[in-house]
Amino acid sequence: MKPISSTSLLVIILAISLNFMASCEWKVPGAQANVLKPSPENITKFGDEKAPVSTGAALNLAARKTSAIASAEKVMARPQIPILCYHQVRDYRSTDSRSAKDYIVPPASFLAQMKALSDSGYHTVLPEDIYKYLAFGEALPEKPVLISFDDGCDEQFDITHSVLDPLQFKASFFIMTVSVNRPNYMNAEQIKQLAEEGHSIGLHTWDHHNVKQYQGEDWVKQIEKPKAQLEKIIGKPVTFFAYPFGLWNAPAIPELKSRGLIAAFQLSTARDQDNPLYTIRRIIVTGEESGQKLITKMKVSFH
Ligand SMILES: [Zn+2]
Repeated sequence: MKPISSTSLLVIILAISLNFMASCEWKVPGAQANVLKPSPENITKFGDEKAPVSTGAALNLAARKTSAIASAEKVMARPQIPILCYHQVRDYRSTDSRSAKDYIVPPASFLAQMKALSDSGYHTVLPEDIYKYLAFGEALPEKPVLISFDDGCDEQFDITHSVLDPLQFKASFFIMTVSVNRPNYMNAEQIKQLAEEGHSIGLHTWDHHNVKQYQGEDWVKQIEKPKAQLEKIIGKPVTFFAYPFGLWNAPAIPELKSRGLIAAFQLSTARDQDNPLYTIRRIIVTGEESGQKLITKMKVSFH
């Protein structure tokens, strides 16, 4: 992916801000650089015991003693768990630009990718499980993978039931609340149902503005209020956050912490050495990746 200048990034973000309400179709600037060296070993090497896949239910992790959380150094030292990031799961249209296709995975490709993970013995985990593993050293199942969906596009609801359910896979959904109940996005009932079915619901801001630009009241508008809204919808605490565009900076972290978010997910830039729980890495999966190619990419990107 070509490096992107801060001016063009700003232009893209402004363009997106004007366009995103129309549909669940918009570009996310690919600002992430792959800074990791290939390391094919590792992803099966966590904990000796097998832990059951969490349903995410009744976990009040925010209430755990913060003094028991591992040091940043320890968290950084643990092998990273593969985390996949999806946006739209639908067939390509003739109007889709080359770069838009990076954020669209046709259902047939999605099915093949999920089937490959299942056939290769992967077990899905949720942000709650990743957090307990990183913060408290708790065991994960063998070959863990977190499947995450951003934005709350409405087809994510159907694809979960048609593709993930038969494989007994669970996923995490990071919702921007401005779009809840709007055309092309999931409604509150669907989000609630996903939570009740054991999936994880996380926050993705109110309207997808770049966290690096927030000041003062923006934190209330983009984090506090939408977090409360999502909690009201699902009837449970919402404690995980995904940065719009994967973009974060150090000053954002205390703001998230003070508002009850216990971990945050970016895309694939390097983690913050002092706050690795707030810069957990994910990779975007494209529709052009076969299941096997995806598995290889996971092994290369997470170690
Ligand atoms: Zn997003």
